[in-house]
Amino acid sequence: MLRTRNILFIQRRWKGGKQRWSVVQKKKSVTERVLENFDDFYGTVFGVRWNNIRAALLSEQKYIAMVNNFGDIEKTCHILESTGAINVKSLFSLAKERSEIENAVLTPNQTIYKLDERVRGILKKQEDQEKQSVYPESIDKEDKVNHNNPFNSKNKSTEANNGTNTNKSLEGAIQTNTELDTRRIVDTESDSGGLYDYVPATKIKGMEDWVPESNYYKYYQTTTDFPLKIELETKLAYPDSLCLYTYEMGNCTKFKSPFKCVTGVLSHYLMDGSSILPPLFLDVQPGERVLDACAAPGGKSLLMLETMHPDILVCNDLQESRVNRIRKVMNEYLIDFNNLWSGKRCLLTQWDARAIEDYEMYDKILVDVPCTTDRHSLHENDNNIFRTSRLKERLRIPELQAAILTNCIRLLKPGGSLVYSTCSLSPIQNDGVVHMAMQGAFNEHGITVTVKDLSLLIQLFSDIFKFENPKGLKYGQMVIPFLPANFGPSYFCKITRN
Ligand code: SAM
Repeated sequence: MLRTRNILFIQRRWKGGKQRWSVVQKKKSVTERVLENFDDFYGTVFGVRWNNIRAALLSEQKYIAMVNNFGDIEKTCHILESTGAINVKSLFSLAKERSEIENAVLTPNQTIYKLDERVRGILKKQEDQEKQSVYPESIDKEDKVNHNNPFNSKNKSTEANNGTNTNKSLEGAIQTNTELDTRRIVDTESDSGGLYDYVPATKIKGMEDWVPESNYYKYYQTTTDFPLKIELETKLAYPDSLCLYTYEMGNCTKFKSPFKCVTGVLSHYLMDGSSILPPLFLDVQPGERVLDACAAPGGKSLLMLETMHPDILVCNDLQESRVNRIRKVMNEYLIDFNNLWSGKRCLLTQWDARAIEDYEMYDKILVDVPCTTDRHSLHENDNNIFRTSRLKERLRIPELQAAILTNCIRLLKPGGSLVYSTCSLSPIQNDGVVHMAMQGAFNEHGITVTVKDLSLLIQLFSDIFKFENPKGLKYGQMVIPFLPANFGPSYFCKITRN
């Protein structure tokens, strides 16, 4: 088999034009490297299901249309319905009628540690591969993880192993070894390398630039040395004034672009359908004080304002340009935003969410953190978080997310709730960060929280979205990209401050 492949390769090598060897060996684009990374990591996390998720992620995503209550409501609804779009509220009500949610038996999740085991396995595999590449004699053959991931390209590089077991750490191995195999070392200052693009040692300026990929997986902690309560959530009210439209599963019709209404605002807002769930599960009630900690461009903030429930909504983002994006959206959708909304019902602020000090001020907080934006990263080369120049930033994303979440827990009034959300499939950035933040809130500030188990309530949306089996998750829920309902990914977890 190998021989045949080699022969074929040699033949191709001598062909001219696009088949030339130099072309075949061309540098991988960032998005190609992202796909390799996902195949490797998510192939292990999701097993055979990754094939379907992958196909969906690589295909066009599906949107939901939110009707603007400050525009021509009837006309907009009529136009959307005439194309076959269905009101999400009617699907929700039908599901509610169908379900016996009121009589549901509470069944605590028994299999939560499966995820822990899987992530531990991935971390071990990653560390072994790194040790093996940098210090080829450091790993015992028997110590290697048995990988069954058909997508795993890295497994091929671990096969040569001479069987000497030392318990050296990766850093230790680097310090003591004189002849380093630097193929897996990434030069973070150039964008020429990447996860699987090796750069020669001569390009490495100093070992301080060395960043092992396994650092990322280490953020997933499994020890629970803090009080943890998980409570089943059984009630969800759908806001009366919220008008959302979708197409049924399997229907890939695209929504018409928004039009300008007589009031001067745009008719409807298009967003990834799964984006409606974090603000809906936040369940903002009339008169509540709400913070959207990472709000730009402002889709989820707009949804909360369209419910007319928040007394005050603070829309915060780190960067000025991003705050300006929120302002633009609000100006497009809210009548006379500057005079009627800004500084009254809606405040735009520019803070680092890790450092906001409005402790115990908010009834509800949406914590829609920066993440690896998995779908976007597979399609967009520009400024991609997987660019080598952003390697350190990417590997530290879980740390940033946990710091934001821990601080937001402090900003909640006792009894208040938040929803943490990402658009990543990564268990590290999802349940892993929730775990880290709850631990931080308790160890550093003595605050305890209750995780609200939303596994029953998501069933009210199961005609629209494909959800990950709740047993595959520890704390939150997740919309899985799926070709007939190509939304997401979106992970969300609801937490109440005790
Ligand atoms: N919630 C938004 C929406 O639905 O339109 C999307 C939010 S996006 C996933 C994450 C945002 O977090 C980005 O706009 C980014 O600028 C912002 N961000 C990154 N680091 C932050 C920090 N430390 N504090 C506050 N915002 C931050």
